[in-house]
Amino acid sequence: MKIKDEKRNSDSAFMVKPKEFSCDDCVAKMNEYARYVLGEKPMDESFEMIETHLILCSLCNEEFQSLLKTTKHLQKKN
Ligand SMILES: [Zn+2]
Repeated sequence: MKIKDEKRNSDSAFMVKPKEFSCDDCVAKMNEYARYVLGEKPMDESFEMIETHLILCSLCNEEFQSLLKTTKHLQKKN
Protein backbone atom coordinates (compact mmCIF):
# COMPACT_ATOMS: atom_id res chain seq x y z
CA MET A 1 0.00 0.00 0.00
CA LYS A 2 1.27 3.39 -0.92
CA ILE A 3 -1.22 5.72 0.67
CA LYS A 4 1.40 8.39 1.08
CA ASP A 5 2.16 8.44 -2.64
CA GLU A 6 -1.48 8.68 -3.57
CA LYS A 7 -1.97 11.59 -1.25
CA ARG A 8 1.04 13.32 -2.74
CA ASN A 9 -0.40 12.91 -6.20
CA SER A 10 -3.73 14.44 -5.32
CA ASP A 11 -2.05 17.23 -3.39
CA SER A 12 0.63 18.41 -5.72
CA ALA A 13 1.13 16.58 -8.99
CA PHE A 14 -2.19 17.47 -10.51
CA MET A 15 -1.91 21.12 -9.66
CA VAL A 16 0.37 21.32 -12.66
CA LYS A 17 -0.88 19.94 -15.93
CA PRO A 18 1.82 17.73 -17.44
CA LYS A 19 1.68 19.52 -20.77
CA GLU A 20 2.48 22.81 -19.06
CA PHE A 21 5.75 21.33 -17.95
CA SER A 22 7.53 20.23 -21.08
CA CYS A 23 10.66 18.17 -21.60
CA ASP A 24 12.49 21.40 -22.32
CA ASP A 25 11.45 22.80 -18.97
CA CYS A 26 12.50 19.59 -17.32
CA VAL A 27 15.92 19.52 -18.97
CA ALA A 28 16.46 23.18 -18.15
CA LYS A 29 15.95 22.51 -14.45
CA MET A 30 17.43 19.05 -14.37
CA ASN A 31 20.83 20.16 -13.19
CA GLU A 32 19.43 21.97 -10.19
CA TYR A 33 17.19 19.05 -9.41
CA ALA A 34 20.11 16.64 -9.49
CA ARG A 35 21.90 18.80 -6.97
CA TYR A 36 18.81 18.82 -4.80
CA VAL A 37 18.67 15.02 -4.95
CA LEU A 38 22.32 14.92 -3.93
CA GLY A 39 21.60 17.17 -0.99
CA GLU A 40 23.31 20.29 -2.29
CA LYS A 41 20.23 22.39 -2.79
CA PRO A 42 17.14 23.14 -0.73
CA MET A 43 13.71 22.07 -1.92
CA ASP A 44 12.19 24.20 -4.64
CA GLU A 45 8.58 24.23 -5.81
CA SER A 46 9.61 23.43 -9.35
CA PHE A 47 11.34 20.24 -8.21
CA GLU A 48 7.96 18.68 -7.59
CA MET A 49 7.08 19.24 -11.23
CA ILE A 50 10.36 17.69 -12.29
CA GLU A 51 9.77 14.73 -10.02
CA THR A 52 6.37 14.19 -11.60
CA HIS A 53 7.71 14.66 -15.11
CA LEU A 54 10.47 12.12 -14.53
CA ILE A 55 7.88 9.55 -13.47
CA LEU A 56 5.79 10.19 -16.57
CA CYS A 57 8.58 10.67 -19.11
CA SER A 58 11.08 7.88 -19.58
CA LEU A 59 13.23 9.95 -21.94
CA CYS A 60 13.87 12.62 -19.34
CA ASN A 61 14.25 9.97 -16.68
CA GLU A 62 17.07 8.31 -18.59
CA GLU A 63 18.72 11.63 -19.15
CA PHE A 64 18.37 12.47 -15.49
CA GLN A 65 19.89 9.18 -14.37
CA SER A 66 22.99 9.78 -16.46
CA LEU A 67 23.19 13.38 -15.27
CA LEU A 68 22.94 12.18 -11.71
CA LYS A 69 25.80 9.77 -12.30
CA THR A 70 27.94 12.52 -13.80
CA THR A 71 27.16 14.92 -10.99
CA LYS A 72 27.99 12.31 -8.38
CA HIS A 73 31.23 11.60 -10.16
CA LEU A 74 32.15 15.29 -10.15
CA GLN A 75 31.33 15.52 -6.46
CA LYS A 76 33.83 12.77 -5.65
CA LYS A 77 36.59 14.73 -7.36
CA ASN A 78 36.03 17.81 -5.22
ZN1 LIG B 1 10.31 14.69 -20.67
